[in-house]
Amino acid sequence: SMDIPVTQALGPQVGGHAGVLTTEDGSLLIKPALPQELEFYYALRQDPALDDLRSFTPTFLGTLKLEGKVESSDADLTSGAGIEHVDAEGKDMFSSIVLENLSYPFLKPNILDIKLGTVLYDDSASPEKVARMEKTAKETTSLETGVRLTGFQVYDNITGLPVNTPKSYGKSIKAHELGEGIAKFFPVGSPAAASSDSTEAPASSSGLPLESLLPILQTIREEIAEIKQVFSSLELRMVGGSLLIIYEADWKRAEDSIEKYLLGDSEDEEEKDNDKADKEDEEEVAEDDEDEDSEDTDPATTIGPPFVVKLIDFAHTKFVPGQGPDEGVILGLDTVLRLLDARLKEITPP
Ligand code: ADP
Ligand code: MN
Repeated sequence: SMDIPVTQALGPQVGGHAGVLTTEDGSLLIKPALPQELEFYYALRQDPALDDLRSFTPTFLGTLKLEGKVESSDADLTSGAGIEHVDAEGKDMFSSIVLENLSYPFLKPNILDIKLGTVLYDDSASPEKVARMEKTAKETTSLETGVRLTGFQVYDNITGLPVNTPKSYGKSIKAHELGEGIAKFFPVGSPAAASSDSTEAPASSSGLPLESLLPILQTIREEIAEIKQVFSSLELRMVGGSLLIIYEADWKRAEDSIEKYLLGDSEDEEEKDNDKADKEDEEEVAEDDEDEDSEDTDPATTIGPPFVVKLIDFAHTKFVPGQGPDEGVILGLDTVLRLLDARLKEITPP
């Protein structure tokens, strides 16, 4: 067993149920999980057929048993976990999964949770729930497009604080308004604010300057196309799962990160040099780690990626061998690709 100081609620949680926690340093996320989600993450860890999907999901570190009010006895499911704690007195415990916190490497994470799929209930749902979920899908963008904007946060450049758009927004809009929603998540910041000595107020109070936003959007689009490719080869049903998109909203950090991760020369020799440099950096960090005063692994001093795109929330995901891919989720991924193409077109200068 391992001591994990669990001290805070996940700050930037843009969707889902309350109760997602992070470790003290914010690098790991602890989320209450149903047996089905545990099962999915164990399969993901072991099954070679899921190798390609693994890089598009948060790293799974293990499970944790927290003392709670939920009565359950799924103890055997957690055996073999990397991190485990079973209460000695055998009190009621519920299982949590420990995942990489995807927003940790960012200075100012803009975060969007897009719920995927047209079917929002699984086999275990009661007839009442099936009826309710079918109605919700029909009344929202889900049934028609395979997506619903669950919620998002976007940093304001003036206040320096994140602004949250709650799930009521994504639930209320029509399919033809999804583009506006995507534009709200990928606003173009005014270049006037780019120079620190400018006193001019920016035209848009949020968003990256176009020269940063364009390569980020373009690469996010490419990754989602890859996710679609991988997902199309799997016989899964992902009910109520999401595509989580996070990108850096801090102008300087985004610029540095793009330089480091996206603009690296793609020639082999250069790449090797970069890898070598990265490795040296890591070694340096590792050495400095022994020094307690070191801040090198703090996200404030380490340049993370300009964005991440991952599939999350496998609470109702199951394997359906022989039944083909999840067409509703694939429709959703196609919708996202179409929306990103439209946004790229909208903001690309003639
Ligand atoms: P729920 O079953 O409550 O919907 P989710 O897995 O969707 O649970 O998580 C809820 C929210 O927590 C997400 O919308 C997202 O904002 C945040 N979240 C979930 N997993 C991660 C992760 N690995 N890294 C960062 N944020 C996450
Ligand atoms: Mn969710």
